[in-house]
This record gives sequence, structure tokens and C-alpha cells, in this order.
Amino acid sequence: MKILYNPSTLEHRVNELVGTRLIPAYESPERITSILESLIPHYTLTTVCTDPEHAFSAAAKVHTSAYLEHLRSIFSAALSAGLVDASGCLLPECFPVSRLPLPKKSRPPKDLCARIGYYAFDMSSGIGEGTWVAAIASADLARRGALALAAGEDETVFALCRPPGHHCAPDLMGGYCYLNNTAIAVQTLLDTLPADQQVSVLDLDFHHGNGTQQIFYRESNPCYVSIHGEDEYPYFSGARSEVGEGDGEGYNLNLPILCDEVNWDVYEPQLKEAVEKLKSVGTQWLVISLGFDTFVGDPVGKFQLQTENYGVMGETVGRCGWPLLVVLEGGYVIEELGKNCLEFLRGVERGRRMGKAPNGVNGNGMNGHGNGVNGVSEDEDEDEDEEEEEEEEEEEDEDLVMVNGVDAEEEEER
Ligand SMILES: [Zn+2]
Repeated sequence: MKILYNPSTLEHRVNELVGTRLIPAYESPERITSILESLIPHYTLTTVCTDPEHAFSAAAKVHTSAYLEHLRSIFSAALSAGLVDASGCLLPECFPVSRLPLPKKSRPPKDLCARIGYYAFDMSSGIGEGTWVAAIASADLARRGALALAAGEDETVFALCRPPGHHCAPDLMGGYCYLNNTAIAVQTLLDTLPADQQVSVLDLDFHHGNGTQQIFYRESNPCYVSIHGEDEYPYFSGARSEVGEGDGEGYNLNLPILCDEVNWDVYEPQLKEAVEKLKSVGTQWLVISLGFDTFVGDPVGKFQLQTENYGVMGETVGRCGWPLLVVLEGGYVIEELGKNCLEFLRGVERGRRMGKAPNGVNGNGMNGHGNGVNGVSEDEDEDEDEEEEEEEEEEEDEDLVMVNGVDAEEEEER
């Protein structure tokens, strides 16, 4: 398991409007702190510094250059113009919505406040002084995660991205998202791997990943599969009838669930259907947009999953044997976020062991696709798993190292 973290992701701290109140956004740096606290005793994390040039180029493959320039410069321009304090946050005020009689080619307004609305589809993505630094760091983690996976550095890579990204379209922010980390990771994989390799995205955040869907809607590679709350944010996308267009037809599957007591019994059949779809399109590499806002009591989600369910979720995808990049999306019950994250990653490792057949090696040099336990009874296999897990935990406890500063790879690049 390779886990990538960048401290610059903590620099973004903004407010949001909830009802009539302006409050500190639920999407806060403490989310990452909670995850670090839970993971550090069990894993060695790799801390990286942002490589701004490569990160910008990777982001420019899925976002427009005008949008990237806007994100990079709008706060300092507003600060210079006296429109905001250094500790303040910019929110949009007016949107060019589709039912207005807009000219065919609308352009970004000169007025700085109005320009924010031109590049946003809602009011939940405020821009503060540290937003660009954090957003590009987050995108860079996704890019590096994809490169590490493609290079075979590990069969599972977890990119601790923040702010999240799956709501972002090529030139629109919204839903706490500024750069579409998952789309950037997918594009990096597609650009790095041989052309015949099928990449898929499994979006397990409570909310539909409208941005990721939009970016790849006309493509057969990647396939996009999402399980999310029906008739929930972002409200105007995520229906089952959205199946992709052109070459992408049949490569987009939405599995919305109506939010009435959605516990594991309701969720699991959808996850099974999602995995069947991923298998049916010949997935060879998987990117998971992982949100924990499916957890019971989440302030912006309505499902009722429990901590142990994330273990089974991880196990289910781990069993499939695909090389896996996990990109963090939402999840706002901060006290439980780290535990849920740890449970998921443990589940992936357990699933991989369960899915490994003695002779099962696929075309990627990774183990076979859910080939089962081959001759070993389920009970025996589970006992072995537990023993292995205990041994591993002992080994890992001896190795409580968090690599701070710059990782070795980066030193070499310099
Ligand atoms: Zn979400």
C-alpha cells in the first residue's frame, strides 16, 4: 500500500453558506488530520511537495487554461483590489445559467466578483488565500498516484487528496471541488499505459460525480460507474438513464439509491452490480473516487453506512485484483473519518489476499480477477487471513515511520 500525502492540502480553509448562515465549510483541513492520525500507526506514508509545473500540465488535460488561470489568480487580484481580506473568502454572486438568453459565446466578465460566478455552478466552493495552493497540491497527489500505480510501485495507491474534485467540470468549480483529481489521475493513466488498457472509475461518494461523468461522457475509456443518493446534490445529474454518448455509450452507469434508510443491506446489491459492470467492460485498472459521506450522520449525506461496512466495501473491490488508485473525495464526520478510511484500506488488503489464486496472474502482472479461494474453504482462508493480518500488524508496528519533507523520488528529480 502506497499512501501519498502533501501538507499543502491543509492550506485551504473557507466558509460556506448553509441556509442563511455563513459557517466554516464542512470540507476542512481537519478531515486530513483525522485520517493521518488513524493511518500513521499502521502505514508508512509518503509525503511529497507539489511539482507545480507537472501538476499544471496534468490539470490542463482536463480543464481549460482560462479556468486554471482564473483559479490561480482570482484571490490575489481581489485582494489587490481591496475586495477581500487576506483571511476572507470569495463566493460567486451571479451565474450564466442555461435558461438566460445568453449570447452564443459568452465571455468571463471583467468584474472580479462576477467572474467567480462565470466559473462556478454553485456557492459551495469559496476561494480563499490558500485555495489554489491546496487544489494544485491535491491534483498533483492524484497525478503522482497514477504514475506510481502505472509504474507498478504498488498494487494499491491511496492519494490523500483535498480539496475533493469529482464535481468539477472542465471550467466549473462547485461542491467543494476546484480541480477534478480523479479525472486528472485517469487521464495520466491513459497517457502512461499502453493504449489497449481499460481504465474504469468507481465513484463511491454519497454524491454523484457529475464532473467526472461530464469529462468522459463520450469516451469508452474510462468507464464511469457511480453509486449515490437519488435526487440529492448535485440534483441535475446522476440518473440511470445517463448511459454515455457516442463512443461512450454503455460506458457510464449510474446507480442512484433513494435515501430512505440506506444501510448496508440496501447498498451492497448496488456495489455488486457496479463490480459486475466493471468486469463486463474488461476493466484492467481501477480508480476509486472514495467519499465517506455515505457514513451515518454525515452532515451532507443521508445514507447510514457503518464503519465495518467500509471494510466489506474495500474487500469487495480488493478481491477483483485490479491495480487500484484510491482518490479521496468527501466525508465530513471528522471524528470517524480516519477509522472509516483505515477500515476500507484494511478491507482492500484482505480482499486482495482472498482473491489471489495460486497461479492467477493477469496481463498486468497483478493477481487474477476475483478467482476465489481455489481449493481452500472459506473458513480456512479467513483464519489464514487473520493470522497474516496479525503478523503484518506486528511488522508494521515496528515501522512507525512517516516520511516527512520530501520523498526520495523527488530528491532524485532535483
Ligand atoms: Zn460527497
